[in-house]
Amino acid sequence: MQNLLGEDLPEPTKEEQYRAYLASPAWRKRRAAALARAGGICESCGISQYTRRLEAHHLTYERIGAELPEDLTVLCGPCHKRAEAERKADLGISERAERNYARLLGEKWGYLTLRKAPEEAEIASD
Ligand SMILES: [Zn+2]
Repeated sequence: MQNLLGEDLPEPTKEEQYRAYLASPAWRKRRAAALARAGGICESCGISQYTRRLEAHHLTYERIGAELPEDLTVLCGPCHKRAEAERKADLGISERAERNYARLLGEKWGYLTLRKAPEEAEIASD
């Protein structure tokens, strides 16, 4: 890609591509469909959308950009936070290790945690 002056721009990172996807109409449509299917309640704790803002959570990142309905679940903020923490725990990532990786790898780290399914995670434990 090039800017208006015709200069080459660096390729967007996977993290940037993911963020752009989350801002796209395609994602908004899938997110809205998931919220409608959930009937306005958190699918974990059952709290209403009128009490807490609900968010769509990826159960898998296998089909990013072409998610199937079953790839998403609807959670309130606290349940979403817990689900993300559990995903990281499944990957064997402690909070301390995560801070270290974030410091060393910057945005690449987000990409690693995003893309690695538990069975393929090979993350050094030091
Ligand atoms: Zn909840």
